[in-house]
Amino acid sequence: MVFSSTGDIIRKTAPTGRNLLNSAVSGAALVAQGLFAALFPSDCRLCGAPLENISRLPVCTGCLLAIAPITGETCDIRGERLPGLRQLAAETRACPVCQESRPIFTKAAAYESYQGELRDLIHLLKYEQVVPAAGVLGKMLAEAIDKFGFSAGPLLVMPVPLHRSKRRARGFNQAELIARAALKQLKPLGAELATNVMERCRDTISHIGLTRPQRAENIRGAFRVVHLNRVSGREVLLVDDVLTTGTTASECARILRKAGATKVWIATVARTLKQSGADLKVEPEFEPAVWAS
Ligand SMILES: [Zn+2]
Ligand SMILES: [Zn+2]
Repeated sequence: MVFSSTGDIIRKTAPTGRNLLNSAVSGAALVAQGLFAALFPSDCRLCGAPLENISRLPVCTGCLLAIAPITGETCDIRGERLPGLRQLAAETRACPVCQESRPIFTKAAAYESYQGELRDLIHLLKYEQVVPAAGVLGKMLAEAIDKFGFSAGPLLVMPVPLHRSKRRARGFNQAELIARAALKQLKPLGAELATNVMERCRDTISHIGLTRPQRAENIRGAFRVVHLNRVSGREVLLVDDVLTTGTTASECARILRKAGATKVWIATVARTLKQSGADLKVEPEFEPAVWAS
């Protein structure tokens, strides 16, 4: 393995959100923190509790510690939680859906389900422009990427692009900020960040509430690879803040494969997961790996 020294460090400290917290909290002396809190009192932007530490991220210890990695059985391929599932294939730990039809990407992984404090933290970054949240989210993304066990190699890391109008309105692409923060954790990987290789040439409406055919129609032609030569023959790691229906990620993976990418991996900080105890849905959340050639 693989992420060499950094990978080991991540694993040793991975089980709780505590290591994420340590980096969010400045190492400044407690006295200074007390003074700062007295001079600049502020509250946690997620729960409203008074903040005790000096940090660029206005989120309290309790809220950060509440964000813990996904637990329980998930499929190794699509990363979905499959409650009550007993028949994961031994070698790949693929669920029956993935055993039957592999998606167009190689594997998808996420740090935590899209809920609670993590959802609020992502909203703080995206909709309230609290940019320091990207640092903590990037560390979570690095742990999701770590699940793939990459060998060091020339991996192309590609944040899912925003349409330029949305990027202009927001001031940044959150996927790019999170990817940059994650790559700092994964230095030995030798990965290359590619922010201008693919573009979102058409804005799309939210996929929430749309049927699968409607989502497919909505996303068609939304992305294009601008520099084919950068993608051809490469393995691409596609990253985003949240994976909901999987339609966007699948479409990106599709056009990247068409552009000659040998493999596409998908890592997100959060993803929507079925509740524990829910019935196993037969229809995969991702679009099937079929396209007109
Ligand atoms: Zn809080
Ligand atoms: Zn699966």
